Amino acid sequence: MREHHRPLAAYELVKLLAKDSERVAPQQVYRALSHLQERRLVRRIESLNSFCLGEEGGDAIVYCSSCGEYRTVQVGDYIDRFVELIEETGFDLRRTIVELRGKCGDCTEAAVLESSS
Ligand SMILES: [Zn+2]
Repeated sequence: MREHHRPLAAYELVKLLAKDSERVAPQQVYRALSHLQERRLVRRIESLNSFCLGEEGGDAIVYCSSCGEYRTVQVGDYIDRFVELIEETGFDLRRTIVELRGKCGDCTEAAVLESSS
């Protein structure tokens, strides 16, 4: 995961691990991912059905739809306020996931350069 710098789907991890070792059962990968998620070493990006390293520990995930770069961002107070606003409407939130998609600085710059040439 660290080498790829982008979120990876479980099936991609199965393929990558199969290259390095003789045989990897998909169930082994799913179990390992579940264990790593519990330890917060890996986190799932729900909207991509993919996994990324969880070492940064931010509340929200921001990822680039062009190159796949991602980062986590601490937005604690903002999420708390957002949840309060929703709950004031009477909605009983069970789970809050903040995932934001856009273009990273490099991809935005590349697009600007391409359009100006
Ligand atoms: Zn990018």
